Amino acid sequence: MAGGAQWPTGHAAQCAPPNPSRPPVRRPPLSRPISIPDHMLPADGRFGSGPSKVREDQVGALARQGRNLLGTSHRQAPIKDMVGRIRTGLAEFLQAPDGYEILLGLGGATTFWDAAAFGLVQEKAQHATFGEFGAKFASATNKAPFLAPSTIHSSEPGTRAEVVAEDGVDVYAWPHNETSTGVMAPVKRPDGVDRAQVGTNGALILVDATSAAGGAAVDLSETDVYYFSPQKNFASDGGLWLGAFSPAAIERIEQIGASDRWIPESLALTAAVENSRKNQTLNTPGLAGLVMLEDQVRWLNEQGGMAWAAARTKQSSDLVYAWAEASEFATPFVARPEDRSTVVATVDFDDAVDAAAIAATLRAHGVVDVEPYRKLGRNQLRIATFTAVEPDDVSALLACVDLIVEQL
Ligand SMILES: *Cc1c(COP(=O)(O)O)cnc(C)c1O
Repeated sequence: MAGGAQWPTGHAAQCAPPNPSRPPVRRPPLSRPISIPDHMLPADGRFGSGPSKVREDQVGALARQGRNLLGTSHRQAPIKDMVGRIRTGLAEFLQAPDGYEILLGLGGATTFWDAAAFGLVQEKAQHATFGEFGAKFASATNKAPFLAPSTIHSSEPGTRAEVVAEDGVDVYAWPHNETSTGVMAPVKRPDGVDRAQVGTNGALILVDATSAAGGAAVDLSETDVYYFSPQKNFASDGGLWLGAFSPAAIERIEQIGASDRWIPESLALTAAVENSRKNQTLNTPGLAGLVMLEDQVRWLNEQGGMAWAAARTKQSSDLVYAWAEASEFATPFVARPEDRSTVVATVDFDDAVDAAAIAATLRAHGVVDVEPYRKLGRNQLRIATFTAVEPDDVSALLACVDLIVEQL
C-alpha cells in the first residue's frame, strides 16, 4: 500500500492542513479516551450476528486443503464429494427424519424467500412476523402476482407473533430465531394443521433457521423446510442457502415445477433438487465458503452435535441475560424469558448510558459488531452467542462493558 496516501480521501481528507482563509473549526474538548486493559479483552472479539466469527481451524482448513480444492471444478469429484459430506453431515447434525433431503442453492436465505414464493407456495401463505427478517419473506409472498395476498400476523419488536390454522393456506412460515430482535420461536406445527403428507394437499411449514440452525435444538418432523444461510452458527461465508426438505415439500416443488407457472431458472427449486442430489449447484458456488462450512459441520458433529451446540449457546446467552438482569443500567430487551433467543442476545440500556458509545469503545479495542440491528433504532447492544463463540469470551465482553460504563 506504499504511496497510497498521496491523495487524501475520507478521514485523511478531513485532516488536511487548515485553509488559512477560514477560521478554525471549534470542537468540544476530547474527553479522556477509555482504555480497556488487554488482559480483560475477549480472546476473540467477533460477536456479530452475521457474518460472524469464523474459527481459526476453519481458516486452517482452507490453507490445508487449498491446493486440492480451491480453484478446481465444482463438477468434479473432489468438490462434489465435499458437498456430499456437507449434506450428510448436516443431515446427521439436524437428525433429519427418513426421506428428508438436504438441498442447497446460491444466493442465501434472501434468495430462498423468492425461490419459495415461486416454487413452494401453491396459492396462499400465512406468516408470523416479529422483526425484519420474517417481514421480508412475508413481503415476498404477499407481493407475488401469482399468489393470493398473504395473511400476516405481526407483533411489536421484542415480542412474538404466531401462525394460526386457516382454510386455504398451503404454506405457514416464521423464523426460528428473529435475528433483528433476539426473539426465538418454538418450531411446532400449529394446532389444527395436519402434517403435510406426500399425495395430499396439506400445508407445508417453512421455518427460517438462518440464525438458529447449528446453534439451537429442533425436531425437523415439525417442519417441511428448515432453511438457513451458512454465515451464522455455521461460521462460514454468506452467499448460499441450505435446507432440510421433507418428502411433502419436495413433492410440492415438483408439482408447481410441472405447472404452467413461469419460474426464473436461477430461482427454480426443481433445479436445486436435481443439482443437490448430484452434490452440485445450478451455477458456480464460492468454494472457500464450502470448505469452511464443511469444517464447521464436522466440528459440530465431533463436539456432540445438536444437543452440545444448543447447550453451549444457552450457556453463553444465559450469561448475558443474567448479567443484564443483575445490572443497574441494562435489561434484557425481550421481556418474556421464554421468548429470549439463545443465539442472539439483545440488551437495552438506560437513557443515561449511551450504548452506541459502548459499542464504539469496544470497536476501538477490536471487539466488534455488537451494535443493535440498524433499523431497530434502540439504545441497545446485540450480542451473537453463536456456537463458535467461546462462553469465556462472552464473560470477558460483559466485564468490558461494565468497565466502560464506569468510565463513561
Ligand atoms: C441473516 C438472516 C437472513 C438473511 O440471510 P442472507 O444470507 O443475508 O440472505 C435471513 N433470515 C434470518 C433469520 C437471518 O438471521
